[in-house]
Amino acid sequence: MARAAAARLELDQRLLKQCVHCGLCLDACPTYRLLGVEMDSPRGRIYQVRQVQEGRIALDDPNFRAHIYACLDCRACETACPSGVQYGRIVEAARAAAPPLDPVERTLGRAILNGVFTSKPLLSLGGVGLRLYQRSGLSRALRATHLLPPRLAELEALLPSAQGGILRGRIPDLTPALGPRRRRVGFLSGCVMDELMHQTNEATVRVLARNGCEVVTPPQQRCCGALHLHTGARETARALARHNIEAFEQAGVEAVVANAAGCGSTLKEYGDLLAGDPECAERARAFSRSARDVSEFLAEHGLDTSSMGEVRARVTYQDPCHLAHGQGIRTQPRQLLRAIPGLELVELRESEVCCGSAGTYNLTHPELSRQILDWKLDHLAATGARIVVASNPGCAFQLTAGLRRRGLELEVLHLVDLLERAYRAGEDGTRGRGDAGTWGEGPRASAV
Ligand code: SF4
Ligand code: SF4
Repeated sequence: MARAAAARLELDQRLLKQCVHCGLCLDACPTYRLLGVEMDSPRGRIYQVRQVQEGRIALDDPNFRAHIYACLDCRACETACPSGVQYGRIVEAARAAAPPLDPVERTLGRAILNGVFTSKPLLSLGGVGLRLYQRSGLSRALRATHLLPPRLAELEALLPSAQGGILRGRIPDLTPALGPRRRRVGFLSGCVMDELMHQTNEATVRVLARNGCEVVTPPQQRCCGALHLHTGARETARALARHNIEAFEQAGVEAVVANAAGCGSTLKEYGDLLAGDPECAERARAFSRSARDVSEFLAEHGLDTSSMGEVRARVTYQDPCHLAHGQGIRTQPRQLLRAIPGLELVELRESEVCCGSAGTYNLTHPELSRQILDWKLDHLAATGARIVVASNPGCAFQLTAGLRRRGLELEVLHLVDLLERAYRAGEDGTRGRGDAGTWGEGPRASAV
């Protein structure tokens, strides 16, 4: 039985052998720090996957699955590992072969991921439903009455606060550059981002346009497949990847820009995901090479600061796992924040440690997620900041829920929301440094 199961593990043995069991990743691992159990450490999980591959542990072993799904897939261990172990690929392959233990998580979770997140109409319907629930005051009333059973009340508190009105707008298929056109880029509007953070999506397109980009947002694009990939639904992730590659190829863009860390990281993995697809492998590699996080793109091509006004605020920055560990992007968002006139950036202790959101982790492992979030909230409170920047929807929702629970008054913003705020301040005539020009390569002429 173990042998038959091991045959289904889609993983190159060399990835497992890269781990030399040195243990240098242990301190970086939130679940090991919390639980103190070797089997809940990166080294322990790699060991177990190896045992499965060798047929010593059955793929359906409940303990194995419990340890594999207790992982946040935050990839902090990859940053800490001196041997270059690609832990994310290992845990995602293990999950693809071993579905979750919990029957609700397995059936309902996968049905939602494979049914709703692959369908634009159903996603839109879900978005309208959530915004209606929140805008109508029903959510507030339910919270005030304390009528919900404790577990349901906890889940309700985790519901993300959707931006905008009940009906959301639509980003134009083509947004012209403001001023001379320097680049033509594609924008991945995403699924969760477009439904729940639509205003941030609109701000992203405007910020890109202000910086000389003609922005194509292909209407036929779909969810990037990040949640599917992280929870082991690899075939669905592959189908979504093929679809998106086609959509952006038709758009004829030089880069595909994402504003959610998890999405950007997944776009950069399309090459690996479709490596065995003879028709799509080369196109997927080319697509991944063109993928950029919005902070990475703006840092690479220069940010117009000449039209910015002041944002006088103490701001701190949370490194989203799939930006810092997944894409190695740490300095660019900080550079962009420091370029905003008047803004004071203060470092957040253990900024690179996961906030406990981790896709659906706060739903599947609420207790662990809450303890991890508590560390983060302690560190946030110590910064004295008024704004925390978290450029990933999962982190933004998790931090917002935690701050509300603690009664801490910090505004949670995406990086582009702050850039847009600076541009708006410029339009309102509160310019901090009208001659600030640009840093980096920079637009040759002011973009506005
Ligand atoms: S991905 Fe995160 S939670 Fe999982 S083993 Fe690595 S550090 Fe630990
Ligand atoms: S994953 Fe890397 S750091 Fe962790 S035990 Fe293996 S080789 Fe060492």
